[in-house]
Amino acid sequence: MTLAGLYIHIPFCRSRCSYCDFATGLYQGELAETYVRAVVKEIGSSQNAGARVDTIYFGGGTPSLLTPDQLDRILAKVHREFDVDSSSEITVEMNPGTVTHDQLRAFRSLGVNRASFGAQTFDDAELAKLGRSHTTADTFKTFHELRAAGFDNVSFDLIAGLPGQTLEGWQRNIEHSLALQPEHLSFYLLEVHSGTPLADHIRRGLQPVPDEDLAAVMYEWMIERATAASYEHYEISNLSKPGFGSRHNTKYWTGAPYYGFGCSAHSFDGHGRRWSNQRDVMQFVESIEQGASPIVDEQLLSPADLRAEALFLGMRMMRGVDLREYSELFGVDLRAEHRDDLDRFREAGLVEFDGDLIRLTRNGALMSNEVFAAFV
Ligand code: SF4
Repeated sequence: MTLAGLYIHIPFCRSRCSYCDFATGLYQGELAETYVRAVVKEIGSSQNAGARVDTIYFGGGTPSLLTPDQLDRILAKVHREFDVDSSSEITVEMNPGTVTHDQLRAFRSLGVNRASFGAQTFDDAELAKLGRSHTTADTFKTFHELRAAGFDNVSFDLIAGLPGQTLEGWQRNIEHSLALQPEHLSFYLLEVHSGTPLADHIRRGLQPVPDEDLAAVMYEWMIERATAASYEHYEISNLSKPGFGSRHNTKYWTGAPYYGFGCSAHSFDGHGRRWSNQRDVMQFVESIEQGASPIVDEQLLSPADLRAEALFLGMRMMRGVDLREYSELFGVDLRAEHRDDLDRFREAGLVEFDGDLIRLTRNGALMSNEVFAAFV
């Protein structure tokens, strides 16, 4: 049976990065405390209380800005309201320089067993351009503190395609990362969102336009280098040492249920109903304090939507989608229905077949949006 995952959004950061369009604001102690109380209350009134879960993910924002006591209160409420599997993966996103050794030990003793670590780049000039609040020295220091506190499942976030970033600079980033031997690597191509300071800098010519072709070369180089270093490329943007794929994120790609708490958190019941919360922190807190629902959007996916989603999310996983299982589940023979598209993609070297499995090739992973568009 597929168990559910829980996502808890912590919308506070030490400063605002120039490219960020997430639902997050500056950390203020009093607001964080009010927010934690609201999240605990929201968990207590969940429609899905009692569900069996085996992953809990604190994302943000910068959840590592929570005090151990605040994290403890949220986790204690989760354990009271949900049937939490004893082998659950419990992840906290952490930014370098935001946690002390004592705090990490306390998180670990509360059951946190995975750190998603926002390294982003090992170049101080690039960190400064991105408005990140840490330096490379902080990255090394916090990483060693994570290990000393007993974290043996650490994921690095890295961003490629930064304005002015060279292939050599990117290669140095990867070499620094591999030398530290994290269990997991998540890789993002920089997206420039309108309304962010970075978009404004680029528009005014203060920073160069990111080079998408170069970013594609960076992607291929990273996959090649990391797989040669025994990492498995298990999802378009994710690599891990064997057995360390993100169990929580895999739920998003495989149609498992997940329930989100906190502002802007999204949920899915595993059958076709999706819903999401207020994005604004204060409006979220006010809804909860007034006993109102923080849900602002709800969608019922049609069978066709569910089918398309199962395919394009499933194909993000490099193991591919089993077409026989797919046909049993949705009553559709994809090979017959999309014969022309599939032939075209196969000839172009974007997808490959292995028995009943269809999967993206490495080139296909780079052009996944084009492939997925054919099925939506
Ligand atoms: S740390 Fe992450 S969430 Fe916070 S401002 Fe930077 S990119 Fe946004």
